[in-house]
Amino acid sequence: MILILAPEISPQSDFYRQLMAHLAQLPGISTRVHEERGAQKTLLEVYLIGNTAALDLDAMRALPGVERVVRVSEEYRILGRHHDDQRSCEFVYNGVRFGQDNLNVFAGLCAVDTREHVEIMLRTLQTHGQPCTRMGAYKPRTNPYSFQGHGKSCLPYVFELAGKYAIKVIAMEVTHESHVDEIRAALHATGQATGVMLQIGTRNTQNFELLKIVGKQAEFPVLLKRGFGITLEESLNAAEYLASEGNRMIVFGLRGMKTNMGDPHRNFVDFAHVPVVKRLTRMPVCIDPSHSVGTRDASPDRILDVMHVTAQGVIAGANMILVDFHPAPGKALVDGPQALRLDELAWFLDDIAIARSAYEKRVARAQQTVSN
Ligand code: PEP
Ligand code: MN
Repeated sequence: MILILAPEISPQSDFYRQLMAHLAQLPGISTRVHEERGAQKTLLEVYLIGNTAALDLDAMRALPGVERVVRVSEEYRILGRHHDDQRSCEFVYNGVRFGQDNLNVFAGLCAVDTREHVEIMLRTLQTHGQPCTRMGAYKPRTNPYSFQGHGKSCLPYVFELAGKYAIKVIAMEVTHESHVDEIRAALHATGQATGVMLQIGTRNTQNFELLKIVGKQAEFPVLLKRGFGITLEESLNAAEYLASEGNRMIVFGLRGMKTNMGDPHRNFVDFAHVPVVKRLTRMPVCIDPSHSVGTRDASPDRILDVMHVTAQGVIAGANMILVDFHPAPGKALVDGPQALRLDELAWFLDDIAIARSAYEKRVARAQQTVSN
């Protein structure tokens, strides 16, 4: 059960002290308090853990300072969308809003290779009015002899150039606690020239110690990729690990599931789960068409498969797109075969706009039916 306190209640207030003293006396119930920092206001949420079935909903509602009470189902206690649950589905980070009702594009390099490529990429994004990007410094690779990313050595110029080209958020994978510290230090050294969304890759979805570390820090939002060989439920529980440690700025990423060798795509595209994740949880949902498809193949209509599946995710309500671009895909050190070229960015963005407007029309049409 979650008690959502009235906005004027602070941890220093008498109401709060009285409430907590009362809750401490309830048999078999322990509490955990979370500060939910929204765009406009900060709300205190008190999580009641234990034998909450015995508690009377109306009695809890009547407690001093309590504005609303949510009885949670067992699944995804914090991130889940529970009955009568009006809690927010959005957060703002470094001026960029992430919600279940909007869409942000993160086009960029799968892996940082040269300073020159980083600069060309970021300049092109600015030209197209894009404030977000993806840039991998730490690359967990299947083969130990493959390029593993430049690591912390590239962070100073990546962040400095991001600031120069007005990039607000960079999605960047981390695989170890030290990476978070290195990112924090490098951002500090550039005077917070940009912001970073920490990415947990599909190989680490169930790396619970990493999830706890990333969940404990409240500075950076997190993009958690679905595990490519586990169930959706297991992946959503991994997101709940992050939230249970305190971080609520979480985006859930779909990136395709492992399938048979020789299938047309690198992974089986799972974007039919966009509305499912939005229904089960309050997280914004990201799609990664590049790692799902894995090629630059096009169909007879001349549309690349990467664009087809992006449109499929967007028309189903996706909130974020993580996509590989490269100024010279043939020279990319990681995942060149799936990267789009910079001269395809305008087309890609137009294609997204078409799909998004179709989604918005679909939502409006559905609302007509519901209100009739
Ligand atoms: C990536 O986005 O660069 C990546 C490695 O993705 P995934 O973890 O989904 O394979
Ligand atoms: Mn990649």
